[in-house]
Amino acid sequence: MDHSLNGLATRVSAARTEVEARGETFYPGPSRIHLASFPPKERWDDWVELDSRAWPERVEKRFMLVPTTCFNCESACGLLAYVDRETLQIRKFEGNPEHPGSRGRNCAKGPATLNQVTDPDRILYPLRRAGKRGEGRWEQVGWDEALEDIAGRLRGAIVEERPNEIMYHVGRPGEDGFTERVMASWGVDGHNSHTNVCSSGGRTGYHIWTGIDRPSPDHANAEVILLISSHLEAGHYFNPHAQRIMEAKANGAKLIVLDTRLSNTATQADLWLSPWPGSEAAMMLAIANHLIATDVYDREFVRRWWNWEEFLAAEYPDEPSTFEAFETHLKSIYAEYTFEFAARESGVDASVIEEVARIVATAGTRLSTHTWRSAAAGNLGGWQVSRTLFLLNCLTGAVATPGGTYPNAWNKFVPKPIYSPPHPPQWNELTWPREYPLALNELSFLLPHFLKEGRGRLEVYFSRVYNPVWTNPDGFSWIEALTDERLVGLHVALTPTWNESAYFADYILPMGHSSERHDIHSYEQYDGQWLGFRQPVLRAARERLGEHIADTREVNPGEVWEENEFWMELSWRIDPEGKLGIRRFYESKERPGERLTVDEYYGWIFEHSVPGLPEAAAAEGLTPLAYMRRYGAFEISRGVGAVHEQPIPDDQLVDVHVNQFGRVFTRADKPDAPNVVPMGTPDPDAEGRRPVGVLIDGRVVRGFPTPSGRLEFYSPTLADWGWPEYALPTYIRSHVHPTALDDDQMVLISTFRLPVQVHTRSANSKWLDEIAHTNPLWLHPQDAARLGLAAGDLVRVETEIGHFVVKAWVTEGIRPGVVACSHHMGRWKLGDQGQRAVMATVALDHEGSRWEMTRTAGVKPFVSSDPDTSRIWWTEVGVHQNLTFPVHPDPISGQHCWHQAVRVRAAEPGDRYGDISVDTARADEVYRTWLALTRPAGTHSPDGTRRPYWLMRPLKPGRDAYRLPEEPAAAR
Ligand code: SF4
Repeated sequence: MDHSLNGLATRVSAARTEVEARGETFYPGPSRIHLASFPPKERWDDWVELDSRAWPERVEKRFMLVPTTCFNCESACGLLAYVDRETLQIRKFEGNPEHPGSRGRNCAKGPATLNQVTDPDRILYPLRRAGKRGEGRWEQVGWDEALEDIAGRLRGAIVEERPNEIMYHVGRPGEDGFTERVMASWGVDGHNSHTNVCSSGGRTGYHIWTGIDRPSPDHANAEVILLISSHLEAGHYFNPHAQRIMEAKANGAKLIVLDTRLSNTATQADLWLSPWPGSEAAMMLAIANHLIATDVYDREFVRRWWNWEEFLAAEYPDEPSTFEAFETHLKSIYAEYTFEFAARESGVDASVIEEVARIVATAGTRLSTHTWRSAAAGNLGGWQVSRTLFLLNCLTGAVATPGGTYPNAWNKFVPKPIYSPPHPPQWNELTWPREYPLALNELSFLLPHFLKEGRGRLEVYFSRVYNPVWTNPDGFSWIEALTDERLVGLHVALTPTWNESAYFADYILPMGHSSERHDIHSYEQYDGQWLGFRQPVLRAARERLGEHIADTREVNPGEVWEENEFWMELSWRIDPEGKLGIRRFYESKERPGERLTVDEYYGWIFEHSVPGLPEAAAAEGLTPLAYMRRYGAFEISRGVGAVHEQPIPDDQLVDVHVNQFGRVFTRADKPDAPNVVPMGTPDPDAEGRRPVGVLIDGRVVRGFPTPSGRLEFYSPTLADWGWPEYALPTYIRSHVHPTALDDDQMVLISTFRLPVQVHTRSANSKWLDEIAHTNPLWLHPQDAARLGLAAGDLVRVETEIGHFVVKAWVTEGIRPGVVACSHHMGRWKLGDQGQRAVMATVALDHEGSRWEMTRTAGVKPFVSSDPDTSRIWWTEVGVHQNLTFPVHPDPISGQHCWHQAVRVRAAEPGDRYGDISVDTARADEVYRTWLALTRPAGTHSPDGTRRPYWLMRPLKPGRDAYRLPEEPAAAR
């Protein structure tokens, strides 16, 4: 058989002809041959397959195929659950061919959802602690009792005007902002995210340029793909993007990957560059300098779309405001960033960087670029990595073009919900401290330090899809805070599985996996907009059979609930009589006085807020809700294109105000003028005028949601808020720059994912655990020889606050002087409760601020309802390195800078695998050192506010809350 791409295409075409001749639908399945294609959607009610367990007998099994959405990473790929019609049990999950983002494909973590559903160690009933917090004694409690207790504590905090004592701390939301609106309905500024240990560095660079905080690269149509990440295996929108990158490669696109480590992605690259960690922005600027110096940038795009007039007005007010004058400056700004300079910073040959620059120069507007966490999350000043990477798009004009990179908001759809509670009237300094006025997200990982130094306390703390003790740096400081009931009154962990933070909770409430809950979501994965629907699969299946299900607990295992119904019920109980103004957001519109149901909630959205869906549903004789329950996804538009170039209709341009740089506003006396930009619209200015567009060459077009309406090459925000030296895209030397290291120090890269795991979310999948369950230290052979280490040897890695003991893996896939260890592994439990397939049992000791963790048992086989657990053959589960990292908050973006300066050496006598030692007093000193790098709003705010009002902020409070108090807070 011809196995070439051409041969495959021929076979696909023949198969399609054959299938379509039979009048059946041909799905372009993963292998693109009919034997592997998908069941036609017309037969999803009764699909027949041979029972694999009965082989060689040919026993038929009948299935109902019910769509839902994977929750094992943020890509939200479509899944199809195969529900056995006889037993009504889920037999397997495959891809949903009706999902426009994932197109029927999944990574290994999608089908492994089945393991999570049947996991013998999962938590099936609400639990309440029976002893001291953290002692490990639990009792089963009824939902009713738990809800009453929690609602009473919340009501007390709200009624007694202590709203800032309520906090909801979320890892991966996996939904459309539902819970954010719950916080808004309670009137509390209580949303806290994980984003500052994840992507806020990457987001900041994009947000400064475009007013939107994420990129949406059109990889499939690119000619050159430039990634600063391991995007093909673990990046943001991994499977949906990976398949499109491979399509582009098959069409001849060049793939360039910057990754210090030889990731799976790097192995697929045409050019792999392994830079010194933190030097990436210097390399981007050398490429930019090449484009500028050789005049291959898109002059017309730069002239029309960059805010160069603002730059000249601020920096060269006495010069003529002409594009030619700007170009003169542009040529000199980056002249120092030669290939040789970039080579000195990165350790990559100047000729290789030059080769990349020449390839980028050939891409024109088909340059797709992407970075997300990676270097932007590793380094002091990492936010300049995404900013300088996007500079290349802004120079080549590859912005919102086929094969270029779009602002994400244009390739994403967020429908209007049934109720939109007003945002809270007050500001919470526990999450948005004044030291970080420009941080794009909550300073979540500093919470233990803020609590301990008396900035506030928490009456009720919810953790959800989040494991702060394990995920954050400085986990022992988290344990210290969570075990102090004066700091945290009540900790409610919403989780389907045991995790290291749940051990320090008061309630553990079991929430459903991806086939056991409702959510909607939409993510930028190509130039189009889609909406996906996650649903409790067995609820949908039983409703297809004519049953009515009123509560998802009726179909989920044990008493596992879903969050939508949980939050609705909890909110109702906070305000049972409606006197606090909360209940009104949870009342049925169809049945006044009764509680809203999930059917009405989603039915309303699908009917009123999703263009085209009611019509598509009607064409099949379905309601919009029934359509989404049947197919799981809907594509709203495709080929959205360059939204910034869309003209503003004349009827919206009556009586407008245009500023000196062409920004067009409605007048102050017309604050209710229509909002013409669909997403990412800038807020009204201080006079209440709403920006409606930007004047370009005599036409008013939508532009970007930045203050200027243009791409902000020059950031007046950074200049005005105390950071004029970073007003332009530039290079900031990292805290792990060679000049910052002692002679015996190396850099530890701790940020990378394993392709088949995602944080603690996928660890309860036996198939995935068997594939990946440990995290050895990557060490270059030169370093191994210097240190006298061989593969498998025990290594002691010393950080600023302690050390951990791990095994070495000697490989040429890492740069000399740099070591790497995946953060995925090292799960632990304190006693019997936990994920026994992947958690070691540990002993935890501490005296004062000194903490020691030692391993008392690794993983071993055990007897359970799943026969596979008695076949577990691995014992190692890696080491929890994050416990040994202090916090490193970037003073601008707020991103935790993950890279560590470490000393690596052979383990000492007595060191054992998995040992961890930390001094939290030292962790506190490091926190204070980084805090001292900030330029607080109190000193640097140009207008007496806490934060630029135009910057994105989850759960944005009212404008009055932005004003700084007259007096410094007494607590400081
Ligand atoms: S884990 Fe895999 S299948 Fe699931 S959403 Fe992410 S990329 Fe898709």
